[in-house]
Amino acid sequence: METTTANFINEQEISNILSKYSKPETLQVREVLDKAREMKGLSLQEVAVLTGITDPLQLHELFETANHIKDTIYGKRLVIFAPLYISNLCANECTYCAFRAKNKDIIRRVLTQKEISIETEALIEQGHKRVLLVGGEAYPRQGFQYVLDSIKTIYDTKTEKGDIRRINVNVAPLDIDEFKLLKDAKIGTYQIFQETYHHETYSKVHLEGKKRDYNWRAMALHRAMEAGIDDVGIGVLFGLFDYRFEMLAMMQHIFELEKVFGVGPHTISVPRLEPATGSDIASHPPFAVADLEFRKIVAILRLAVPYTGIIMSTRETAQMRRDTFALGVSQISAGSRTNPGGYDDEIDADVSSQFSLGDHRPLDEVIRDVAGMGYVPSFCTGCYRLGRTGQDFMDLAKPGAIKAHCGPNALSSFMEYLNHYASSETRKIGIQLIEDTIHQMNGLPKERARKLVNRVNEGKKDVFC
Ligand code: SAM
Ligand code: SF4
Repeated sequence: METTTANFINEQEISNILSKYSKPETLQVREVLDKAREMKGLSLQEVAVLTGITDPLQLHELFETANHIKDTIYGKRLVIFAPLYISNLCANECTYCAFRAKNKDIIRRVLTQKEISIETEALIEQGHKRVLLVGGEAYPRQGFQYVLDSIKTIYDTKTEKGDIRRINVNVAPLDIDEFKLLKDAKIGTYQIFQETYHHETYSKVHLEGKKRDYNWRAMALHRAMEAGIDDVGIGVLFGLFDYRFEMLAMMQHIFELEKVFGVGPHTISVPRLEPATGSDIASHPPFAVADLEFRKIVAILRLAVPYTGIIMSTRETAQMRRDTFALGVSQISAGSRTNPGGYDDEIDADVSSQFSLGDHRPLDEVIRDVAGMGYVPSFCTGCYRLGRTGQDFMDLAKPGAIKAHCGPNALSSFMEYLNHYASSETRKIGIQLIEDTIHQMNGLPKERARKLVNRVNEGKKDVFC
């Protein structure tokens, strides 16, 4: 298939905007922050103004604004998921990744369907309901069918305790027919990160394989949406190039999707380069993003695209994850392993990981910590199963009405977790949080929350509105 050029990424425009706006006056910053509070998103110029903030007082105001928007739109909800790596075999040569084809220092593994089922059982036993399926770009035996089979295996795996209710997918870009098959397999979100939008850097870090084709990757979300996948996820691998450039380029990509499909991405991921076996660049990022800058990135994204979920993975430390909840993060992975077979002891534990994790805590510990901070861990998969995806989700989200569904659903799914999977200590903290949260609710959401939580306590599972 011929690759269309991603001409919506306009490097000249980005560098013009950055040189004009990246040393903003105090008044300019104030105007952008005021506009952001209207929660209608920001332009490229306005994002550039915010990336130029260096003054600690203005930074504080930026963080406050992000916190306000996060609270208004999402409340105290944090959606929980776990990645499931099905294979670390890869035909590409991305210099930052341990799975790159020529890396001889790692142990490879393509999980069998039986092993994927065992891994899924291990995740179900922990209490997970959402899985992000991840893999390298090589499926030697069955080709793309391997991914489809794996999705089916995960959905088909059930234990006495439950099942996985939503599978999101992060695999290499597909063609439209393959994306249609992915949709038919009932995936939630398809996500793919451009890694870097800077053409020259892209060529330098992607040395071999299909991933060398910048346009094939940059147009992947177009093809996914054309194939009918409503929810797509976008992202940049921070550390490869100047984060200010990457943010503006990602905004150009978002605006393009909004223009063509009437709706932008469902989620944004913000991976930061972590050390990886056999990669020099991963340990010495050419454009390392400092912790304060990283918090700034999350906060700016929250202002720029208020209704798009922000995902924070276990690449980051427990403390960084905690810091960014208040700045706009709405989804986190927990208890993660990035080596195929990493969840179950039966499967070879020596298989190599993609990169080093910053947060090694098991799910129950993360849940206890999150709940202790007043955030409600949500295992809900209601919207997607009721068809509230893409434009429908955004229509509901924009007037804030989603809170009337997501708030109660988060509480009932959390109650289910507490009743079936939590340690006694976590259960105690969680029940208190649920009671406090319902107490602070009003009207219909309060009524719904009480009803759903009661039903869970009567022994019902998977209740949502
Ligand atoms: N192989 C597919 C691809 O590259 O699109 C799918 C998933 S890849 C396993 C998931 C993501 O991990 C990549 O898109 C990249 O952003 C991220 N990644 C790779 N190496 C990393 C590293 N050293 N530190 C942090 N993230 C990394
Ligand atoms: Fe393969 Fe993805 Fe790693 Fe690149 S980032 S080497 S495509 S697994």
